[in-house]
Amino acid sequence: QIEKAHEYVNKVFEQVKDRNPNENEFHQAVKEVFNSLVPVFAKHPHYMKQAILERISEPDRLISFKVSWADDNGNVQVNRGFRVQFNNTIGPYKGGLRFHPSVNASIIKFLGFEQIFKNSLTGQPIGGGKGGSDFNPKGKSDGEIMRFCQSFMSELGKYIGPDIDVPAGDIGVGAREIGYMFGQYKKMRGAFEAGVLTGKGLGYGGSLARKEATGYGTVYFVDEMLKDAGLSFKDSTVVVSGSGNVSIYAIEKAMELGAKVVACSDSNGYVYDKNGIDLDTVKRLKEVENKRIREYVTVHPEAEYVEGCTGIWAVPCDIALPCATQNEINKESAEILVSNGVKAVGEGANMPSTLEAIDIFLDNQVLFAPAKAANAGGVAVSALEMAQNSARLSWTKEEVDSKLHDIMKNIYRMSKEASEEYNAPGNLVVGSNIAGFLKVADGMVEQGIF
Ligand code: GLU
Repeated sequence: QIEKAHEYVNKVFEQVKDRNPNENEFHQAVKEVFNSLVPVFAKHPHYMKQAILERISEPDRLISFKVSWADDNGNVQVNRGFRVQFNNTIGPYKGGLRFHPSVNASIIKFLGFEQIFKNSLTGQPIGGGKGGSDFNPKGKSDGEIMRFCQSFMSELGKYIGPDIDVPAGDIGVGAREIGYMFGQYKKMRGAFEAGVLTGKGLGYGGSLARKEATGYGTVYFVDEMLKDAGLSFKDSTVVVSGSGNVSIYAIEKAMELGAKVVACSDSNGYVYDKNGIDLDTVKRLKEVENKRIREYVTVHPEAEYVEGCTGIWAVPCDIALPCATQNEINKESAEILVSNGVKAVGEGANMPSTLEAIDIFLDNQVLFAPAKAANAGGVAVSALEMAQNSARLSWTKEEVDSKLHDIMKNIYRMSKEASEEYNAPGNLVVGSNIAGFLKVADGMVEQGIF
């Protein structure tokens, strides 16, 4: 059976590559999931007959559209917008929007594919989707951002809705952008449909603790994993890449649990502060003043700034939390982390480790918390935001945070149990992929072929 399962998985993976030429990020995400699922097909061959892999790796639809807008000089700019509606077996499509020059169909499909399994792991009724644009928000004025968001939504708005597809933020999209898009959507519909977007401002349907959710969730997950191995954040040295929303709140929670966070970064370089990063300074620079992380050393001259962003992985640490972007830890960086004695890696970003890097961590007994499980806290609180919107009420921060904590503990437990049941004890990559997959696959079988 195991051989048949291998053959099946390889055959469908080749099909995916043929159908989606040159989409390396998408291939990478699919390969990781498919490899994990071999023991599932060996045990439950009916999924092969149902062509579950063929069906789950082909999006329901990929919408691609033009976004034209006028810059501050009156010149018209044209960008490309995307939304992938990947799978809605267990709930409306759900996933963020990314505004970054690297965005293309491959990036959106890898993110949307991951979202299917991540969202399933949260235990909430949300399907998988993702979207974005190759628009670069860096250096744009507030007016330009608003006009871009309005134009983007004037097309995207035709395809979404509180029970259809619910976008949120991701890289380059925060509460400000969500606000502009919500305003445009409201204007288009002539109705106040709060549940159409999540990550909204608190005054019009946003949830408390949504901003903190991904970072806090990553630390909650890693904390469970550490405890299981007799370790903890207390007195450990931590390196967190990035300095955006995920990173800032991962740092905050890690510090609360007694860790010393010594480095963080942005796409230009990283800061190393042997006394521990001063989070108030990072928050002011990034959340208020919109400045680069290099400015940190003007406030803390005893800290070091190093140009280039992969160098951060050479900073010795017990726990590494990659919270910046995809493929930020390659084979070489993983080897350096291992040789410096890293004990645990927790992925706050989406797919921050390459497949080779993951193998290096697992082969060297580094505790590894994969993105789909470890960063699910953001979308989990988004689903709580949808629930509050439907009920037309709002929960306290403590209430949301405690629900988030329970969800992350549950994801850890489910992933661990699945890894044990399928003969890969402690391999949370395998465990989370399987646990996320089973619920969606069973739903697909039960809902019939269409
Ligand atoms: N962009 C986040 C993620 O990668 C959050 C998505 C959401 O809240 O819908 O999961």
